[in-house]
Amino acid sequence: MKDKVVIIGSTGSIGTQAIDVIKTVGDKEIVALACKSNVKKLYEQVKFTKVKLVAIYDEDAANDFKNICKRNKLNIKILVGMDGLIKLASLKAATMVVISVVGMIGIRPTIEAVKAKKIVCLANKESLVCAGDIIMPLVKKNKVDLRPIDSEHSAIWQCIQGENKNAIKKIIVTASGGPFYGKKISELKNIKVEDALKHPNWSMGRKITIDSSTLVNKGLEVMEAHHLFDMPYDKIDVVVQRESLIHSMVLFVDGAVKAQLGVPSMRVPIEYSLYKENRKFINEKEIDWTKLEKISIGTADLKTFKGLSLAYKAIKIGGLMPSVYNALNEVAVSRFLNKEIKYLDIADFIEKGMREFEKRKLNKKSFTITDIERTMAFAERL
Ligand code: MG
Repeated sequence: MKDKVVIIGSTGSIGTQAIDVIKTVGDKEIVALACKSNVKKLYEQVKFTKVKLVAIYDEDAANDFKNICKRNKLNIKILVGMDGLIKLASLKAATMVVISVVGMIGIRPTIEAVKAKKIVCLANKESLVCAGDIIMPLVKKNKVDLRPIDSEHSAIWQCIQGENKNAIKKIIVTASGGPFYGKKISELKNIKVEDALKHPNWSMGRKITIDSSTLVNKGLEVMEAHHLFDMPYDKIDVVVQRESLIHSMVLFVDGAVKAQLGVPSMRVPIEYSLYKENRKFINEKEIDWTKLEKISIGTADLKTFKGLSLAYKAIKIGGLMPSVYNALNEVAVSRFLNKEIKYLDIADFIEKGMREFEKRKLNKKSFTITDIERTMAFAERL
């Protein structure tokens, strides 16, 4: 049976490429699309994929989309708000849900897709970072096929296929180090938004490019890996792999290391998430070994890039602290992109906010999605 796919977050970088991969391979049918607010792009995608059902998170954007459809005499069913996203995530007609929306708005749709026992292809970081303690037990209970899309987690997932879980000694997550690798604090003082948006290897969305430069992205990925592969934090290492050719590695008890390599492109992890062991030809570039000078491994500078060390701290504290870490970062990055704060203020803001959260004794061991969502309000008020 052909999978019927819903894409929640279709207009972002991952969503767009997921449509591209499905259209390149075929073999799956896209039945609905959802986005936050980019209705211009959504309209193009609706025409291209011929879906008859969409959900739009932002109400004003949904009204704009209604008008666009009216003008073009296009008959599309439009769902609105979080309710709309949730309806698509649990859509009866769908067998597979891609969750590629950015931010905490991805958490509830992920949970609903898991409850509805869909195959869940997950690119939304916040789902596991913030709500991993809630989602993973549901995944187990409902025997859901939860598949990562993030390149590092996809690499780890590919490396452990056919292996015994007890034989895994360590997961080694690779980081590119971002555009400022090797720089000292004093050199980072006057970094401009444009500089931070220039990633050496990957072309990604704006927020994740900043997160990649501060190593916060790696911190979030360690949290995700912990939940996804049920590994304690002290068994998850981070190394810097400047060329972004090794997408992550797994060390086994016998000393063997498996790594997954490829050109830095999200199309491969997207394809692997969608088609799993039935790998498909997607016309992707190959590593040119004749031109490859080196594959280097280095360590992450946790002093300069304290975004990563703060993540380990948040993990240790546990409860809502990973959500707080994530919320503080989301607020700080948006302020940086709006040129309200400086580059180094991002990590300082996270550090100060985490301290404040502890000081006010707001942490909880067991929590709800509403508690998680409140951490965003906490961060926004700081
Ligand atoms: Mg990644």
